[in-house]
Amino acid sequence: MARQVGIVGAGIVGLAHAWSAAERGHAVTVFERSPRASGASIRNFGMIWPVGQSAGERHQTALRSRERWLLLRDRAGLDVASCGSIHLAHHEDEWQVLQEFSARAPGLGFDCQLLSPAEIERRTPAAQPVGLRGGLWSPTELRVDPPAALRALPVWLATTFGVKFEWNTSIVETRSGGLKRANGVWWQGDHVVLCSGADLESLFPELLQPSGLRRCKLQMLKTAPQPGGWRLGPHLAGGLTLRHYPTFEMCPGLPALRERIAAESPELDQYGIHVMASQSPSGEVILGDSHEYDDAMEPFDKQCIDELILRELRRIIHLPDWQIAARWHGVYAKHPVRPIIAEEPQAGVFVRVGIGGTGMTLSLGMAEQDWERWA
Ligand SMILES: Cc1cc2nc3c(=O)[nH]c(=O)nc-3n(C[C@H](O)[C@H](O)[C@H](O)COP(=O)(O)OP(=O)(O)OC[C@H]3O[C@@H](n4cnc5c(N)ncnc54)[C@H](O)[C@@H]3O)c2cc1C
Repeated sequence: MARQVGIVGAGIVGLAHAWSAAERGHAVTVFERSPRASGASIRNFGMIWPVGQSAGERHQTALRSRERWLLLRDRAGLDVASCGSIHLAHHEDEWQVLQEFSARAPGLGFDCQLLSPAEIERRTPAAQPVGLRGGLWSPTELRVDPPAALRALPVWLATTFGVKFEWNTSIVETRSGGLKRANGVWWQGDHVVLCSGADLESLFPELLQPSGLRRCKLQMLKTAPQPGGWRLGPHLAGGLTLRHYPTFEMCPGLPALRERIAAESPELDQYGIHVMASQSPSGEVILGDSHEYDDAMEPFDKQCIDELILRELRRIIHLPDWQIAARWHGVYAKHPVRPIIAEEPQAGVFVRVGIGGTGMTLSLGMAEQDWERWA
């Protein structure tokens, strides 16, 4: 039976829920306190990154999300590119970890392949050849343009499914069957999904604040459009990234790699720096990132973090133009173990908060699974 569904937050988690609910014939209204989405979902790399998800359920959810992004490309006309990714190894211990992972990958459902330096050069003009041992190619990664996607999706949901959007509307209270707007007017419905990102104070603070969620700030940079139509090709990551994503935890060589980096460059651990690059459709290369938690987070960005990110990137890639055109930061909430906080604190009121650094990769699949359960 068609339900009246209210969703709080027009970030990727809220929009994923809006789409899955609307596809099932429910009448959906999305409430967003800003004039347009401006949270973590428009501040990210736009990497759909199944290769970074641990084997099993999370990886499968990421692959399902990937299929859903490709559906959005075909149905909503979003610019979604199937670019794949390469992890570059410039140290022997990084190459060791990639070989260990590659040996286990097929049995765990990952479709990966080791590349020689010459093979890497054929896939991307950007890999720094000095010291390059090899790389790991994965074909499953996608590139989306987050600001463009987060602007276009509400329009498509509204015109295709009649999803309503109430922008500039803060929700200050929920109860079974209702949401209270900041102007005091209640919305009545059957099913509420709270997708409020890193806001742990406004709604259900008694649930979210002691949940173990931590807030994390990430600094990012973007180059000017690269000259002459130069293209990066696949998303690129380096050896530092091997210590960031849970995928590689199974590799026996990882502790030695971690120890070397901690001894050589403790500042990278201090600021949670690993480096990646993706390219927007208009040619800018998006570069990042760092991870500062809770009390270490300040409103002001640290110049030294930007310099460290650029230093590490220059070690593994070269770009025709390193001129930085924009700098920004984003904040998400993350749980040390749980992929998201999924609770039902009131009957028919569902919390979906704290998806951490994987919202673009997992949301579309997770929301679909939720709506299959809620059918
Ligand atoms: C710098 C950076 C890089 C990243 N890179 C990637 C990447 O490449 N790939 C990937 O998979 N993930 C990436 N992530 C993670 C990803 O961006 C997040 O997981 C995701 O955007 C979280 O989505 P969300 O909808 O939960 O939160 P948000 O996008 O923050 O949206 C929450 C929305 O809820 C609204 N809201 C909150 N409270 C209320 C209220 N009471 N009433 C009304 N509205 C409310 C907010 O205004 C906001 O618009 C990155 C994150 C950052 C910060």
